[in-house]
Amino acid sequence: MTHKTAIIWFRQDLRLNDNPALNYAVNNGYAIIPLYILDDENADQWKMGGASRWWLHQSLQSLNADLREHMIFRVGKADAVLPQLIEEAGTNAVFWNRCYEPWRVKRDKELKQNLKDNDVDVETFNASLLWEPWEVAKDDGTPYRVFTPYYRKGCLKVKEPREPVKRPERISYAEHKVDKGMLEDLKLMPEIKWYTQMEDFWQPGEDGAHKRLQTFLEDGFKGYKEDRNRPDRENVSRISPHLHFGEISPHQVWHTARGYGQANAIPDTDIDHYCSELGWREFSYYLLYHFPHITWENFQPKFNEFPWNAQESADLTRWQKGQTGIPIVDAGMRQLWQTGWMHNRVRMIVGSLLVKNLLIHWHRGEEWFWDCLVDADLASNSASWQWVAGSGADAAPYFRIFNPLTQGEKFDPDGDYVREFVPELKDMPNKYIHKPWETPEEILHEAGVILGENYPKPIVDLKASRERALKAFETTKKAS
Ligand SMILES: Cc1cc2nc3c(=O)[nH]c(=O)nc-3n(C[C@H](O)[C@H](O)[C@H](O)COP(=O)(O)OP(=O)(O)OC[C@H]3O[C@@H](n4cnc5c(N)ncnc54)[C@H](O)[C@@H]3O)c2cc1C
Repeated sequence: MTHKTAIIWFRQDLRLNDNPALNYAVNNGYAIIPLYILDDENADQWKMGGASRWWLHQSLQSLNADLREHMIFRVGKADAVLPQLIEEAGTNAVFWNRCYEPWRVKRDKELKQNLKDNDVDVETFNASLLWEPWEVAKDDGTPYRVFTPYYRKGCLKVKEPREPVKRPERISYAEHKVDKGMLEDLKLMPEIKWYTQMEDFWQPGEDGAHKRLQTFLEDGFKGYKEDRNRPDRENVSRISPHLHFGEISPHQVWHTARGYGQANAIPDTDIDHYCSELGWREFSYYLLYHFPHITWENFQPKFNEFPWNAQESADLTRWQKGQTGIPIVDAGMRQLWQTGWMHNRVRMIVGSLLVKNLLIHWHRGEEWFWDCLVDADLASNSASWQWVAGSGADAAPYFRIFNPLTQGEKFDPDGDYVREFVPELKDMPNKYIHKPWETPEEILHEAGVILGENYPKPIVDLKASRERALKAFETTKKAS
């Protein structure tokens, strides 16, 4: 019988398989006290949005069931809650897996020192990145700013991602008299039930993550490289929220995908491309670690003088509600609202419309995504919004402005994606479904569409707003 006890502080690692902190405890003979702390106070501006809270509730429920209901739940500043719990439980060891958000890095560093000063045994591990941000650097020791050399010359040359580790065969739980609290104390579930469609769409938790990955490997992996751009197809893995909450590790995804691909004659181009997308996730964390200001400040300071549109509120509301009158944009924004997720290609299209055609600051897009996405992730969301805006590292040049009409016609050629999320347009012929404003009146009539009544006229003139954006971009040239 074991007498050593340790708190396992679960954070973005809500799983039992391939969990280094948990393995360390079990392998070293500790009986564990599993803990989750909801620390909104330290998170401040970046406390979780509504969709993420919904996900977290389900995920913790699933993890607690896997831990045979031994989890302790707390709300408050972790730097106060954890020392108190250590005392109450009479333990002197705590193990956790690292997080990389600037507010967490600061908090954890101070907390770790404080605990060590008080003779608590603290061990921390990497559970969520294939390469630690400090392991990869240019020859001169400075961080990469461009993805391809970061990934090819940096990451892939440093080391192959380690193999995942199986869950411990037997976990011992410490006996204690501490009040466990309840998941409900975290008040993660919204009062208004807006999440019913999300319930149909997702299965948060470790089991759900593995099922999701398996479905993708069997049904969507082949052809990934090309068809990952098609929102009307099932060729992306939708693993992002599971990865964000750590229900599956990137190591598991990387090696499972490679193993499946090789055993099932999936072309190398698809396997490598899928792994390189995991590389983009790594790059986002790398940027966040080395340039923590990217969550709010332009990575390229020349964008600081950019003349954003001050009259943004009405346009912003129409964008958020999927009422812009531009079908592919409306489909994306409604997919986001209904499912908590949006296809990557469409994220880029809706982002470009907001930032370039409407000249609305990327912060507004970042905030809306933060609240609505189940995969809302400070690293990927900040880096991606800056990428879309042109202000980021390795960003799309500002002058490359997506035309949502041609993007729609190219990547949703039959209009299936639009029809799914914009039912007002379901009877439009394929030829016109992406451009109702250019559709002859009799065809609109036949499809039951009355522009300005049951489907909006476009929020902007795409050509004129493109010119306006290019003119606004001139200011950044003067600033550089
Ligand atoms: C404006 C904007 C905001 C975004 N915000 C987020 C966010 O908050 N959280 C988030 O996880 N992703 C974000 N992304 C990146 C990307 O859209 C999603 O990771 C992807 O759509 C998730 O779907 P998937 O799991 O099916 O991806 P797949 O194509 O199956 O890719 C597998 C995994 O690779 C990673 N990945 C793929 N593309 C990217 C990318 N461009 N950047 C970083 N990682 C990537 C993700 O972890 C993804 O789960 C954003 C992109 C844009 C353009």
